[in-house]
Amino acid sequence: MTSTPPSHAVIGAGIAGLACARALADAGHDVTVFDKGRGPGGRMSSRRLEDGAIELGAQSFRAAHPAFREQVAAWVQAGVAAPWPDALWRLEAGRAARRADGHPRYTGTPRMSAVTRQLARGLPLHTGTRIVSLARAGNDWRLIDERGTTHGPFATVSLALPAPQAEGLIAPHAPELASECRQVPQRACWAAWARLEAPLTLPGAEANWPLLQFDAGPLKRVVRHRTKPGRGGAPELITLLADLDWSERRLEDAPDAVAVDLLGALNDALETLRPAASLPAVQARGAHRWRYAEPGAVAPGHDHRLTDAGLALCGDGWRGGRIEDAWLSGHHLGEALCHRHPLPDHGDFPT
Ligand SMILES: Cc1cc2nc3c(=O)[nH]c(=O)nc-3n(C[C@H](O)[C@H](O)[C@H](O)COP(=O)(O)OP(=O)(O)OC[C@H]3O[C@@H](n4cnc5c(N)ncnc54)[C@H](O)[C@@H]3O)c2cc1C
Repeated sequence: MTSTPPSHAVIGAGIAGLACARALADAGHDVTVFDKGRGPGGRMSSRRLEDGAIELGAQSFRAAHPAFREQVAAWVQAGVAAPWPDALWRLEAGRAARRADGHPRYTGTPRMSAVTRQLARGLPLHTGTRIVSLARAGNDWRLIDERGTTHGPFATVSLALPAPQAEGLIAPHAPELASECRQVPQRACWAAWARLEAPLTLPGAEANWPLLQFDAGPLKRVVRHRTKPGRGGAPELITLLADLDWSERRLEDAPDAVAVDLLGALNDALETLRPAASLPAVQARGAHRWRYAEPGAVAPGHDHRLTDAGLALCGDGWRGGRIEDAWLSGHHLGEALCHRHPLPDHGDFPT
């Protein structure tokens, strides 16, 4: 006699949720992923414009941990990631200065979302499905989405979400975890973008300078997407990431007003250079508000949580504010779930 193996649900198809689901699926487990977005990726998603792709969230990632280095090497081998940028530029004392900090960085090719699509390959993934509550019946979990549809049963439910979004779902079932979520606030960030009529030149920098960092607000970073690998021939599309304090002061502003002010701040910074530069004409612009951009604090202890009842938490807030941290958190949770629910060698489950 056989019965079906336990099923696992993962809510959130960002890098953490996909790393968790991948670890489960690769070990032979039955796992289903849910995300409210139109596709996987979360803060690593890319936006397609009519003449190119841009990232408004994460732009690149580092790989220090051996397990993540191995994963990144596999992505590079598969052609979905490549080294970028080779250096960072800063504005210092009226001039552009090249800075190499010794940390190799990578980005997705031809878009950042290629990485998360690769991770999601072959996984049952319900996009456009916002989970609004969890229900417990016996030893099983069910998920209820915003249309009132029930999904399940599942033996475990992993919430791979920014902690403030996980808190409401988990509070009725694990108040102690909800209280931990409150210790992991997420800070907001505005990301503006623009298509420029001509290349953005930086006096003193090479023609294809990739990324410019700022020491003080309102700008934190300006990124030129055409310098990323695999985007040859793309127009001059830039992303302007705002300083977090500035973003939070402007949280409820209209996106276009934010885009205008960040582009103005870039132009002002270029005019301080010697020789002075200025922003080419802006052909199109916009801005996106990340309400939960990066953890303002990281939970102490393990990089994920897993209760006896099979409720779990992972994501960047449980380890650090980077892609590498989010992947490790999800991957370690996936390994813990495999350990908790071992599969018999032959795949049969005695009833
Ligand atoms: C502007 C910006 C720039 C950044 N730059 C970098 C960088 O250069 N390098 C770097 O390493 N990191 C960077 N980061 C951080 C990095 O993007 C994150 O650490 C990482 O992507 C977090 O992954 P995650 O899976 O934990 O969360 P997320 O990517 O946020 O995934 C959570 C997912 O859950 C889904 N979701 C939420 N609620 C529900 C619900 N109720 N039901 C269903 N689905 C739900 C969301 O749609 C989302 O897809 C940046 C982040 C931002 C915002």
